[in-house]
Amino acid sequence: MTSEFAPQKFKPFTRQSIRQARQWQSLPPDLQEAVQVVSHVMPFRTNEYVMDQLIDWNNVPDDPIYRLVFPHRDMLPIDEYRTLRDLVMVKQDDAAIAAYVHQIRMRMNPHPAGQMTHNVPRVNDTPLRGLQHKYNETVLFFPSSGQTCHAYCTFCFRWPQFVGMDDMKFDAKETTELVSYLKNHKEVTDVLITGGDPMIMNTRSLAEFIEPLLGPELAHIQNIRIGTKSVAYWPQRFVTDRDADDLLRLFEKVVASGKNMAIMGHYNHAVELRQEIAQKAVKRIVGTGATLRMQGPLIRHINEDPHSWAELWRTGVRLGAIPYYMFVERDTGPREYFQLPLARAHEIFQQAYQMVSGLARTVRGPSMSAFPGKVAIDGVVTINGEKLFALQFLQARNPDWVRKPFFAKYDPEATWLDHLKPAFGKEKFFFEEGGTPDQVPHGAAVERKVIPIASRREACATHGNAA
Ligand code: SF4
Repeated sequence: MTSEFAPQKFKPFTRQSIRQARQWQSLPPDLQEAVQVVSHVMPFRTNEYVMDQLIDWNNVPDDPIYRLVFPHRDMLPIDEYRTLRDLVMVKQDDAAIAAYVHQIRMRMNPHPAGQMTHNVPRVNDTPLRGLQHKYNETVLFFPSSGQTCHAYCTFCFRWPQFVGMDDMKFDAKETTELVSYLKNHKEVTDVLITGGDPMIMNTRSLAEFIEPLLGPELAHIQNIRIGTKSVAYWPQRFVTDRDADDLLRLFEKVVASGKNMAIMGHYNHAVELRQEIAQKAVKRIVGTGATLRMQGPLIRHINEDPHSWAELWRTGVRLGAIPYYMFVERDTGPREYFQLPLARAHEIFQQAYQMVSGLARTVRGPSMSAFPGKVAIDGVVTINGEKLFALQFLQARNPDWVRKPFFAKYDPEATWLDHLKPAFGKEKFFFEEGGTPDQVPHGAAVERKVIPIASRREACATHGNAA
């Protein structure tokens, strides 16, 4: 444990206990009411560090981290909010509240992208609870004791994990099934331990899930990834928690075994990495030989500012982290509140990308984790006078689709892949009909910027290596 930072006890707040937080009394009654009402639908949990260090209470409700963790009335359509408010605040009828909340949740597409139907592996036709296998090389593992988080994000696509929808939960109590599945699947190189947040577990419990993956029979597993938001919501996990040092030793053990320990750090806003302790956490993680990648979704009201993304990536790179993904907000939960048009998402990504050095341009996006795979919006182009989105699969159910460009009609309102229509008069995208990716029509005029030879020379000359 490092002595620069005093140990802090983790103190969570939920709907039941938020009134005890000192900031609660300063919230106007309408915001308090919204938390009490909407948190019946969306999970609500925050903690003292988030409240004290990450939220600027002079800027509430517009503060990005406030919007990230506190439910708002606009997350529900007005009629739903009114009905639920009446049930919660006036009638206080628990059975009626539960029935109405269930109805709202089911309309919210609780498991997008075929998670319950297409990604669950089976052995002898029995589904393996707590596992997902969508892409050939990566298996997702959901340990049961890691299915909560240090705070909950209001946009989270894993929200059914936290609200007691047991029939929609992924969780595994131990690794026996995982290990025997992996032994029979030599194509798998990566195991992603995810949640919730696996870092909610103490180090001893986490080791019980990780150490069985280090055995010689799983030599084909090269990368052990952990998906976590603790780097932002509770960086003390890596710095001052009682077993923080043991955690770092566990990372070192994985690295010493010859495998890559890859921490997939979830960040949403630059403020999350302005805190000294958050920066220290990054340093300590990468100091073990583990890698730390930065990823997160682009969300309206929270991080639609390219400057915030650029600052986040720049700071991360300085500390040794690797910018990885900017995702498009998924089609689940209160998506109407959080979603941005794909065209705007592309602009924000491009602007942020232009502000950072080549070292931060490892980042990819904006990327939709959709049913057929991860689809990135590469740009907006005009071909034969038709304005189009240029797209590609970064990951796909069918590996043959990866990194083959395809095109969709430009639609300024579209917010997800299924809103897009194929280009060039086609009825379906190639991945919907088992065909091949788009070919630009023969002889088509493609509008693109041409850099004159002279200015290219000038550009080179400024770096002292003119041809
Ligand atoms: S930390 Fe991750 S899993 Fe937890 S609520 Fe946020 S997005 Fe969801």
